[in-house]
Amino acid sequence: MTAVRTRFAPSPTGRLHLGNVRAAVFNWLFARHHGGRFVLRIEDTDVERNVPGSLEGILEDLGWLGLDWDEGPDRGGPHAPYRQSERAAIYEATVQRLLTTGAAYACFCSDAELEEVAERGREGREVRRYPGTCRRLAAEERAARLASGEPAVIRFAVPEGLDEIEIEDEVFGSISFPGNDIDDFVIRRSDGRVTYNFAVVVDDIDMEISHVIRGVGHLSNTPKQALVFDALGADRPRFAHLPTVLGPDGRKLSKRAGALSVAELRSRGYPAPAVLNYVSLLGWSHPDEREVLGAAELVAAVGLDRVGRSDAHVDPDKLEWLSAQHLSAESLTELTHHVRPFLDPEHFPVEAERFPAVVDALRSRLSTYADLEHHMRLLFPGDDPEIDAARAALRENPSVKALLLTVAADLEDVGDWEAGPLGAAVRSTGARVGVRGAGLFHPVRTALIGSSEGPDLGKILAALGKAEAVRRMRAVAGSGSV
Ligand code: GLU
Repeated sequence: MTAVRTRFAPSPTGRLHLGNVRAAVFNWLFARHHGGRFVLRIEDTDVERNVPGSLEGILEDLGWLGLDWDEGPDRGGPHAPYRQSERAAIYEATVQRLLTTGAAYACFCSDAELEEVAERGREGREVRRYPGTCRRLAAEERAARLASGEPAVIRFAVPEGLDEIEIEDEVFGSISFPGNDIDDFVIRRSDGRVTYNFAVVVDDIDMEISHVIRGVGHLSNTPKQALVFDALGADRPRFAHLPTVLGPDGRKLSKRAGALSVAELRSRGYPAPAVLNYVSLLGWSHPDEREVLGAAELVAAVGLDRVGRSDAHVDPDKLEWLSAQHLSAESLTELTHHVRPFLDPEHFPVEAERFPAVVDALRSRLSTYADLEHHMRLLFPGDDPEIDAARAALRENPSVKALLLTVAADLEDVGDWEAGPLGAAVRSTGARVGVRGAGLFHPVRTALIGSSEGPDLGKILAALGKAEAVRRMRAVAGSGSV
């Protein structure tokens, strides 16, 4: 195989969402799998649709997902510039080449004339396509009209007598498009701007793109693009179209139905590797059907042969599950670092030193980094009549009261305030006074957090710290307030 070069070519019309980031993920995985290069190209010629700030947002989203690019607008490369808006001279030179070879021609038809053709097409009287009026103009007339400054578009001259256009697609196989369906499409508008189907090919040739991997929505553009490759005497790249991504309801992705932006997922506390993993499974499966995969494993396993043709559905539960899996694989140090920004210190003023122990006590309950805030209430319940009642009930039982005071006294002497030794210390106090199992752990846990169920007791103690843990137990056993 020639050197693999893939590209992601977003238009800066907003943030990336699960549907459009998938092309980036596959192109990146594929390039990395083959030791190739991944190019970022910005398709910003449609100025009316450009949204200010979205380029920065796209770069940020890709960076967050760990998709690094070898060439792109911010880092240059041998085929710079990488923004279509800066490549006008390259397009113009290519338009001139096609005009010289007769593979393109100037068209003077007015919008009104074209609208009439379209109208006849709508009424079913004729095929709705450009009738080739200006293709048949004599060279002198064409030259005279151009010289007089008459506005013109440039059209691609689809080769005569083309019955079929065959496309070899790595996912959808060999597809044949009837030549009749393709009319002489515009490649340069009258204002001088080139169109998508033309610019994309000029760029893919210039940037030596070996594989064009993108959503199946672009399949219908592919025959036109293939003809431009042919007319420019360039080899067509390998095309690979990825199946449609639909919302959980089987409908087109919409905001409501799961078209969450990458930025939103990030702010909701999903780990980047989980989002990468999730997106890679939209239309692709691992050869051993494994699902929880890190970036390196995805790079190693990815291949176009396992991309399916049927629609992929966004499944929020699966994202949640993958998120929990990735999160649970993090070390405590990593996890602590990741959850910190999601916690409002005003709500839960935990000393920095205790914070890792708090995370450790609650981590098994988290699906996202942002979940910590909610579960913090387990350790820091605040005012809650039910919890106060549960604690007050302990006080009614003299032997429980005595147990709590003994445990508290023994805990005062524990030097190594870590979950393991703390759990052992409580058990050994229990053994000494002849209480174990639920009879020991339930009252101690209830005294500490107001519930007999909850995280591991040693972890709760480690999270609360000695002073707070002992204070809570004494307050419950005595008459002091908690
Ligand atoms: N700019 C196009 C898009 O955002 C890219 C199409 C392509 O990959 O050829 O859909």
